[in-house]
Amino acid sequence: MSDAADTRMTPETTPLEERLIRLIKANGPITIADYMADALGHPHDGYYTTRNAIGAEGDFTTAPEITQIFGELVGLWLVQSWIDLGEPAAFNLIELGPGRGVLMADVMRAARLRPDFARTAHLYLVEASGRLRHEQQQRLAAVGSLKLDWLDSFDDAPEGPCLIVANEFFDCLPIRQFVRRDTGWREQLVGLNDDQTGLGFIDAAAPPLPETPLPDAAAVERGCVYEVSEEADTLARTIARRLKDHPGRALIIDYGRLQSGAGDTLQAVRGHAFWPVLASPGRADITAHVDFEAIANAAIETGAGVFGPIPQGAFLENLGLSARLERLCAGKAPKVQAEIHAGAHRVAAPSQMGEIVKALCISAPQLPRPPAF
Ligand code: SAH
Repeated sequence: MSDAADTRMTPETTPLEERLIRLIKANGPITIADYMADALGHPHDGYYTTRNAIGAEGDFTTAPEITQIFGELVGLWLVQSWIDLGEPAAFNLIELGPGRGVLMADVMRAARLRPDFARTAHLYLVEASGRLRHEQQQRLAAVGSLKLDWLDSFDDAPEGPCLIVANEFFDCLPIRQFVRRDTGWREQLVGLNDDQTGLGFIDAAAPPLPETPLPDAAAVERGCVYEVSEEADTLARTIARRLKDHPGRALIIDYGRLQSGAGDTLQAVRGHAFWPVLASPGRADITAHVDFEAIANAAIETGAGVFGPIPQGAFLENLGLSARLERLCAGKAPKVQAEIHAGAHRVAAPSQMGEIVKALCISAPQLPRPPAF
């Protein structure tokens, strides 16, 4: 997401919050991961299942929503990857968290330069939200005739050659947080606030289990926060296992860090503004930066190839951003040209999304180096 600004909304109590308070009173505090999973994915009250999250009317915006060039360049990357796979007569094109379907629509438009790409592709969209599924279907129907199905989870994706794309998906997977206290690591949990009327962060009473992947507490300064996403690591391992056994590549693009380490990146946004993470659960988007080192290690340990991560700006530039920009602007009015340039600047400039957002490729081990990496 990008562009958080000031907001005038005030937090309201939500049904999900009332349920969580009752649950915590009865059973004790829950992990941040459990809180995130409920706040984002609860079937009746979760953020993604009930809200119009993305775009100007929603809470945040994403690269494909900012400029068509993003999806077109990702489309070129996918077409080249399909060529590197030997132009299979049938393959699965899987998108994780397709949002409003804008990225995939731009991908398929750019892929028209090789009509066999769309003809041989079977699209699988992994999407939790019914309303977004509907929007994806409508947007993709306008692109042409496509073999298209939806999945609840990547685990359900059929086997065979595959290309996988995920933009701003991994950053909504639940994380756990650990804080370095005087006595060592303590998990940060979601419990009740001081007057027991709302949610609040509290320390776990006991130290984390020894198998929790944390650095030696002695080497870490007091107060440091360390984040772990078991779901992201597990998904990376599942994707890598698939790519070890079936030819293909996965392109993962997200806000993230190059190395595992300290840093509190848990954040919520609502109405294009930062929002308190524990306020009005189900009504705000909650994300954390992706730990690319952990994902890459999970994939490497599984036996897949890994390329990157590289900054989004470099990824797009390597795919021909400047040339595409020039062609798109040719013959257009100065005002339109300025808009096109502004969109490209937002997704690629280091001061905007160009550096903090990164691209990583998990690859079947036998394939050549992917384009742009
Ligand atoms: N890729 C899109 C949208 C990113 S927002 C874009 O770039 O614009 C995150 C997307 O992931 C949404 O479509 C959301 O509904 C979906 N999502 C989040 N958590 C999910 C989960 N656990 N399973 C399936 N889809 C999920």
